[in-house]
Amino acid sequence: MSDVTLVAVSKTVGLEEVKAAISAGIHDFGENRTVLFKEKQAAFPGESWHFIGSIQTNKIKDFVGRAALVHSVASERALIAIAKRAEAAGLVQSVLLEVNMSGEASKDGFAAGDLDAALEAACALGGVRVEGLMTMAARENPTAARKSFAGLRELRDRYRNMYKSAKNIRLIELSMGMSDDYGIAIEEGATIVRIGRSIWL
Ligand SMILES: *Cc1c(COP(=O)(O)O)cnc(C)c1O
Repeated sequence: MSDVTLVAVSKTVGLEEVKAAISAGIHDFGENRTVLFKEKQAAFPGESWHFIGSIQTNKIKDFVGRAALVHSVASERALIAIAKRAEAAGLVQSVLLEVNMSGEASKDGFAAGDLDAALEAACALGGVRVEGLMTMAARENPTAARKSFAGLRELRDRYRNMYKSAKNIRLIELSMGMSDDYGIAIEEGATIVRIGRSIWL
């Protein structure tokens, strides 16, 4: 089995807990609010910080160039805004495209059917590199979660092949699985799991 990166989602804890986690060997952290992302990243700039929250275009400057990976790009508008900001700063921002696999209206993400157009748009944006895909599964429904995770893997495999000549589209990573369902996600090929509650208990 290949390696899985654990992103410790630190949104509910403070700097002391993050420090303890670093001492215990964790070096990837996730935040979903730009203010806390900035604060914690500035406190521990040597660690890898992942932005996993919904993206407001006026807050993009808070994480572009500071995030090792932005997991939650859920619209072409956000993708373009990130690329613009990164290009202005002379860097390339690594991102994942979030896909709404469960179809729940409450969830962010591209519809699976819109992913091709988003990737096509990304090809023309030198400020971003699409490293892979991310999804959030339905809660407390292991059967539905497995279906979402397997579906995300199939999308990645299909588009990785289709876009293999695009130099800023890599489509390697699958960011899927949280405290309740990371075991299923790993079975279905997750390369990154984002875990909060079960780490900080
Ligand atoms: C909070 C959060 C997580 C972690 O959830 P837990 O259930 O606490 O493991 C993972 N991903 C995202 C996008 C989150 O907002």
